[in-house]
Parts: sequence; C-alpha cells; structure tokens
Amino acid sequence: MTGIDDLPIRDELRGKSPYGAPQLDVPVQLNTNENPYPLPEPLVERIAERVREAARGLNRYPDRDAIELRTELAKYLTRTGKHPVAVENVWAANGSNEVIQQLLQTFGGPGRTAIGFEPSYSMHGLIARGTGTGWLSGPRNDDFTIDVAAAARAIAEHRPDIVFITSPNNPTGTAVDAGTVLALYEAAQAAKAATAGAIVVVDEAYVEFSHRPSLLPLLEGRPNLVVSRTMSKAFGAAGLRLGYLAAHRAVVDAVQLVRLPYHLSAVTQATALAALEHTDTLLGYVEQLKEERDRLVAELRAIGYEVTESDANFVQFGRFEDAHAMWQKILDRGVLVRDNGVPGRLRVTAGTPEENDAFLDAVRALKKEQS
Ligand code: PMP
Repeated sequence: MTGIDDLPIRDELRGKSPYGAPQLDVPVQLNTNENPYPLPEPLVERIAERVREAARGLNRYPDRDAIELRTELAKYLTRTGKHPVAVENVWAANGSNEVIQQLLQTFGGPGRTAIGFEPSYSMHGLIARGTGTGWLSGPRNDDFTIDVAAAARAIAEHRPDIVFITSPNNPTGTAVDAGTVLALYEAAQAAKAATAGAIVVVDEAYVEFSHRPSLLPLLEGRPNLVVSRTMSKAFGAAGLRLGYLAAHRAVVDAVQLVRLPYHLSAVTQATALAALEHTDTLLGYVEQLKEERDRLVAELRAIGYEVTESDANFVQFGRFEDAHAMWQKILDRGVLVRDNGVPGRLRVTAGTPEENDAFLDAVRALKKEQS
C-alpha cells in the first residue's frame, strides 16, 4: 500500500499531520470558535437572491478584483474601526487563512522567517511551513500576555521578515494594546533596517468580540502594518470562507503578485455582499455572545477554575493535571470543547445560553467528582 511517505513529497512535510479539530457528532459543539447562531431567515433569502443573480453570469469569470465587495468591506471597517479605509486598502480571499497564506507567499518564502508569540493560532506556523518560510516561536508571559521587552528582544535577535500578533489571541483569548503593537512594529523595522523593513500582521479574527477597540487606526503612516479580519466569527459565516485585510495600498498591490486569478468565486462575492447588508443584525448576535462569554468567565471562576481574561468568543480555563483526560470527561458528558495542547488548559467557545449551561453543568459536576 502506497502511503504519503512513499511519495516524493517535500522533506518538511514528511511525517506531519494536517490541521484539524475533531469533527465529532456530539449534542453540544463548543470547539471551533464558530458563531452558534444560524444566519437569520431574511439574510438567507437575500443570499438566495444575490446568488441567483450571480448564477446567471457563471459562464464568465468573476470580478477578479472583487471591487464591489472590497468597497463594502472598506465601508464596514471605516464605520466600526474608527479609521477611514478605502477600497484600495482592502484585499479579500477565501478565509483569513488564505489572506495569511498570500501574505507569507509575498513577504516570506525560502530563506525568510516569520515569528509568532505562542501559544497562538497554530496555522500561522503551519502556513509558514507550507510556503517554505522558517518559523520562530516567540515567548509569552505565564498569564499568556505578551512580554513586550522579551518579544522585542526576540525580534532583534532573529530579525524575522514577518511578525504575527494575534489580538485577541487564539487559544488564550488575550488582547494587546496599541502600545504593544507600536513597540513590536518599531523593533521589527529596526531589526530589518538594512532592507525594506518587516511586515507586521495583526490578526484580528475575533476583534468584534473584544472589550478593546480595533487596532486599525495604527495603519496610519505605517506601510508595513497589516490588519487581517474574517467573516467566519462575528458575521457567523464560517461556511462562507471570506477573510480580508486592511493595509497600505502598496501591500494590496503586492499580494496581487501571488493571488490566483479569479480566486474569489462570484458565488462567494455575492454571498458576502448579502451578509454585509445585514451587518447590524449580525453584530447584535455578537453583543449577546459577548455577554455569554463574560458569563462563562464569571461562572467558571465561581466553580473554582482558573480562567484567562478573554476578549474573544471563547474562554481558556484550567488548570488540569491532564488536560486531555479532562477533555475526554467533558466529551463523555456530551460537550465537545478543544484541547489546543496548551499544558493544563482547555478552551470552550461561547455558544447559545442553553449550550453554555450544558457545558457549565458538565464541568460543575466534574469539579464535584474531583473534590
Ligand atoms: N486567525 C485566527 C486567530 C483564527 O483563530 C482563525 C480561525 N480559527 C483564523 C485566523 C482563520 O479563519 P478563517 O480562515 O475562517 O477566516
């Protein structure tokens, strides 16, 4: 039987596993930071209308530059991010994973490196590997915040071409302030002063759930800064696959060098445009989820767990001697959470009030069993 390793695959992929949380058929699924609310019916209708219209033109390639969609995304960012963003400053792709891949293809690659402060979103490192970019793991404090001085030292020492700052961070939920981004941006430019500097990517996949404002205003006067976003979380549209970035127009021009022609299908563009017409309704769900997230933090603490401050739609909790054994015990009670491999911790996504109650009942019972 031929297996992967019998094929002439690239050396750095040999023996590796693909990314993926278990997709188990369990009553309460709180493991992938999805939005638990299905899209509202009027939006489903609008998507059907827009897609029907797009279907009539499917014999043609889609708008390669996705101008209408990028215009609407720019308006959304301008309205909610307290910073004017124009169509030339926005780029969109199939999920923010693809945005990140395009950034690594453009600014990373063989002989170059990227750094992230871990534990963080593991795909940054995996996409780096897939693009031949070297990966460097930077430090975090014990409370999972970024130690700015230690992070700046790591940047000065390794001189990475790309710096990832995930805020709010996945899987910890912690966000950074503007001062942290500014300090690391300066450190990254100083370290690469001999060339054209380094790209700093602020991954704001969860920012709509944060207690803090977006870091978008920092783009002003910083051509090497990129903010990446997604419609997978706040817009409740993980199945749509639509991610985007905001940056100086030169960054948007640069990623054109690696994007596949017509990468964003006409159906995707039509669906995303329909969702953007319903932004206010969808952001209403975000408010409910923020309240549920805060309730999870408070109740987990009341039960006696150690909980990391969260600015996202999920909560990291512990500590467990054996986090994986605890994950299995919660699963045995019908609730799927996530073991991200952070020692002694698990992560739970904020679901509907009923789902969160089921989760809290399960961990409350387990706590009683153990004491
Ligand atoms: N960034 C972070 C921090 C994430 O957690 C995720 C999804 N888990 C993504 C990016 C990618 O999201 P998508 O490709 O669905 O936009």
